Amino acid sequence: MINQKVRDIMNEQIKWELYSSYLYLAMAAYFDSQGLDGMGQWMRSQAQEEVLHAMKFFNHIKDRDGRVELLAIDQPPSEWSSPAEVFQVAYEHEQKVTGMVNNIMKIAQEENDYGAMPMLHWFVDEQIEEEASTSKVAQELKRIGDSGDGIIMLDRELGTRTFTLPPVGGEGA
Ligand code: MG
Repeated sequence: MINQKVRDIMNEQIKWELYSSYLYLAMAAYFDSQGLDGMGQWMRSQAQEEVLHAMKFFNHIKDRDGRVELLAIDQPPSEWSSPAEVFQVAYEHEQKVTGMVNNIMKIAQEENDYGAMPMLHWFVDEQIEEEASTSKVAQELKRIGDSGDGIIMLDRELGTRTFTLPPVGGEGA
């Protein structure tokens, strides 16, 4: 049976991962409205990945005989001033999520919850990737500035990202 403190904080994290999905979908809608289909596609893939993150916590609680309780998800923002701002906000959001994952790890360690460690280590690694990918695009957009050609080229490149559902039975990335 899962430790109650660990369950509560993981339960809360399900909400934050789903909020992340909601935020990235809002960003996809913003890019769609700007005619930046590639960036919209990138954000759609990101949003789908976040649902899998939520499900990883959901299934972990269930597998350890805990009860998941779904909490209310906040409304995400819908307007940004530029693509550069969107990716900067995404990068800052991922840094916040890293702090949350670290906090769950801290609580699990305090509670001697060794069963949670492998999954939490997976999230620690995943957050390094999440920060790196959002930071990279945010930096590129800063460098590009107002160059329309630069934005179109990056939009094309980001549009090549595809989301692949992990095999049945695995929770995936
Ligand atoms: Mg996530």
